[in-house]
Amino acid sequence: MCKLRDVSLATATLCCIMGLVASACADLQIGISRIDITPTVDRDHVVYIAGYGWNRKATGVHDPLYARSIVLSDGQKRIALVSVDVVGLQYPLVQRIRAAIPKHDFDYVMISSSHNHEGPDTIGIWGPNPFRRGTDGEYLSSLVQKIVECVRIANESLTDVTASYGSASDESLIRDSRKPIVKDATLRLLRFQSGSDDKVVGLLVQWNSHPEALGPDNTLITADFPHATIRQLEEKYNCPVVYFSGAVGGLMAPPRGLFRDENGELLKEGDFTYAEAYGIAVAKLAEEAVQAASPIELTPFAISASPIAIHVKNPLYRAAAVARVVKRDRVKWMGDFDKANVPVDKDTLRDEMCVQTEVGYLKLGQLSAACIPGEIYPELVYGRFQDPPDPNADFPNAPLEKHVTQILPDGPWLLFGLANDEIGYIIPKRQWDRSPPFAYGRKKSQYGEINSCGSNIAPIIMEALERRVAEVDK
Ligand SMILES: [Zn+2]
Repeated sequence: MCKLRDVSLATATLCCIMGLVASACADLQIGISRIDITPTVDRDHVVYIAGYGWNRKATGVHDPLYARSIVLSDGQKRIALVSVDVVGLQYPLVQRIRAAIPKHDFDYVMISSSHNHEGPDTIGIWGPNPFRRGTDGEYLSSLVQKIVECVRIANESLTDVTASYGSASDESLIRDSRKPIVKDATLRLLRFQSGSDDKVVGLLVQWNSHPEALGPDNTLITADFPHATIRQLEEKYNCPVVYFSGAVGGLMAPPRGLFRDENGELLKEGDFTYAEAYGIAVAKLAEEAVQAASPIELTPFAISASPIAIHVKNPLYRAAAVARVVKRDRVKWMGDFDKANVPVDKDTLRDEMCVQTEVGYLKLGQLSAACIPGEIYPELVYGRFQDPPDPNADFPNAPLEKHVTQILPDGPWLLFGLANDEIGYIIPKRQWDRSPPFAYGRKKSQYGEINSCGSNIAPIIMEALERRVAEVDK
């Protein structure tokens, strides 16, 4: 049903039926909030920075980290989408956060990380050495409370809005450091305008690059380039902005050789002026997407999400789990990834290892959104696989996975990467390449597999997405 402001019932009903003009349907409400999650950095609080190697201790704060929430309501269902300026929040922590949010308030809570490589370790593997956790339990507990609070505030500020969807692309704004060169260079955006006076009241931005402009040597806490992107957009549109990372695997990173200072000097990784220049360039791309935006109907909501079981074959991940550097409970493999709820009796390195994660699908009116629990390769988004397969890859004859744009219904879409989990890289099976001889005539494997659970992850994730979509669209 349309709740109407100043449109006649007949006009509005017609618009709702035809889905023509989003502004006629006032069912959609949103609330946006943010909360500061910057860790304390002083002599009493050692903060290990996540990403790259071990033992990178923070020496100060350059700019604050935030959790940002957007709560959406269609009048019947309510969802919260949260983005956090950290490297990743794993499923057990997401479940802790969800458990602390009043159950009756939400039909779905999605918590995604920007994958910031310049924030505190929130997973455990970037401590002083491989055997000691890099996380601070007190910080993680406060993070849980703050995200809950952030969602509560957004939920209490719901206001009638209309929505527009736009996108803009620029291949030069992403560097792909792993063959084959396949990028998702499209920024996708939702613009929300007040139902009463059309004032812009919020932007949701999805872009696809590792927040790692500051590189491995920086020791100041920062949100990396999204800090500049969000600041620019908030100043320009005078509204809050929630930024999500999409398909960052395979391996999407800030470009090199593109930005210079006023003296013509090349700006490079590790320099805050480089992060700033790149962040502003991404904001400019977002402005193009705003200009290209057209009305979209985002109601009614349909949601499909459930835990799945994935195998963890990566020996480093397995050792980290057994040593409790990474804290994830193991489940039994029951022959189907959708049967993910039987815990194992004990942790040993000898047995097969499975953990729970989650794939979600949101159908918000005309918009489809995939919630993918890690760093998906853009090949799996667009179906642009290595073709023909490299005969030196480990599984050149593996069946091609169905890809995201093939699985999602036609129409506008978003992809939330690192959604509710960070399971690492999701690599097309045909491109998996750990054993010699190596693809592309290389002497050693390309970087990627070392940060992936295994070669069977992509087939499972894509099939899980297909099942979730079928559950909504049946
Ligand atoms: Zn990554």
